[in-house]
Amino acid sequence: MSSFSIETLTQLSYLAAAALFIMGLKRMSSPVTAVSGVRWAGLGMLVATLATLALIFTRASQFNLILLIAAIGVGGAAAWISGKRVAMTDMPQMIALYNGMGGGAAAAIAAVELYRGSETNLVHLTMATVGAFIGAVSFSGSLIAFAKLQGLITKSVRFGGQRFVNLAILLVTLGFGFMVVSATGSSGLPDISLFFVGALLLGIAMTLPIGGADMPVVISLYNALTGLAVGFEGFVLDNAAMIIAGTVVGAAGTLLTQLMAKAMNRSLGNVLFSNFGETSAGGGGVTGTQKAIEASDAGVMMAYSQKVIIIPGYGLAVAQAQHKVWELAQLLIDHGVQVRFAIHPVAGRMPGHMNVLLAEAGVPYDLISDLDEINAEFETADVALVIGANDVVNPDARNNKSSPIYGMPILNADKAKNVIVIKRGQGQGFSGIDNALFVLDQTRMLYGDAQAAVSQLIQAVKAAG
Ligand code: NAP
Repeated sequence: MSSFSIETLTQLSYLAAAALFIMGLKRMSSPVTAVSGVRWAGLGMLVATLATLALIFTRASQFNLILLIAAIGVGGAAAWISGKRVAMTDMPQMIALYNGMGGGAAAAIAAVELYRGSETNLVHLTMATVGAFIGAVSFSGSLIAFAKLQGLITKSVRFGGQRFVNLAILLVTLGFGFMVVSATGSSGLPDISLFFVGALLLGIAMTLPIGGADMPVVISLYNALTGLAVGFEGFVLDNAAMIIAGTVVGAAGTLLTQLMAKAMNRSLGNVLFSNFGETSAGGGGVTGTQKAIEASDAGVMMAYSQKVIIIPGYGLAVAQAQHKVWELAQLLIDHGVQVRFAIHPVAGRMPGHMNVLLAEAGVPYDLISDLDEINAEFETADVALVIGANDVVNPDARNNKSSPIYGMPILNADKAKNVIVIKRGQGQGFSGIDNALFVLDQTRMLYGDAQAAVSQLIQAVKAAG
């Protein structure tokens, strides 16, 4: 086959890959089609990779081909093994790591182009430099995010004047970037190297002060940046698949970041600069005492209810109680109880966290409702069963203007006739504030690990006949 026809074939494959990416993303927007969406997008990635390889095989030296195959082998095996082994609760740090690799790859492509010094087209040079900057920041920032979520870095590093130090690193890095671009290909090694060092340092310095629990939003932001960096490098390499995939990832990541910040009623600036959840501990002005309930009584209450709405939260993920919860729900359904699951958009610690857990346990999608769909139904519920959720059901977000989470949309569990809350003790949620729901007249606390408590409820419902 002539090189012309291989190139045409490659371009057509890129088009097919782009269509697969976009259709895959569309399918990921519903839990019913999400798994097939992931497969479609994965197929798109495979098509793009094979097309690129076919092109490279016609051009690369034997030595480079060996390097390439070895890299694909090592990277593919590492991704396959870690993907198979990762626990659902460790998914955010896994995403951070993969995301960092994407940013690093984009920066590495730019590094090759810049160090080679053969690029004299000013537009291409600017694109390569901007992509290198974003990719390098995203790479080092994502690695710090990974280390925090993995517990390798346990403290958030903060000191006076930190923002000015970060600003200084940014300005110096941009200065070197400007020198690299304005030298149009004849930039010296030191300028390019210092530019990369500055960008890597900025990613680290920006991420170190951010609290561990805010990492999912930060990872989503870095994900958007990685997409952008890949898109820029796609222009430099004249690679349509990279431009499209990078733009799609950049746009999806930006929207996800915005949605997460909105669901937490916080601005992105507040997430990046406020140390939320680490400094606002205690407080909230909640008075009143929590009233405990035995599992046997709670089981009877639910068995004789007409409608029970289950609200899962972060504690359910920690306890891995999803299978037990579905067992309980099935038992109640067999008793003639109408059961629904209510999911808050930021319940847990990553987007879609609860949907993934419930899907894993086999809960049918038509029993699961999101906040807008279910909130009007709480008034007709006999029991709202809150399992390891806290902030997402705190009525202070609706009623108390002085609350740090005032304005955050919540699930209206407090409107149910009875509320049963499963949690281990007096522990606060991610925002570090007390919860007014727990001291309401109609609320009873069932203390214990979510999995153990739900197992007791199952026994109690069975005993209720
Ligand atoms: P939450 O407010 O963090 O509360 C979780 C509760 O679970 C805690 O109060 C804890 O109380 C309990 N818990 C922990 N381990 C447990 C176990 N083994 N068994 C039973 N209970 C357990 O959770 P949420 O209501 O799901 O809210 C999520 C929060 O995370 C929101 O503030 C949200 O803004 C934030 N966030 C979410 C995302 C996201 O993408 N989803 C990203 C970043 C931040 P005890 O210690 O007393 O048991």
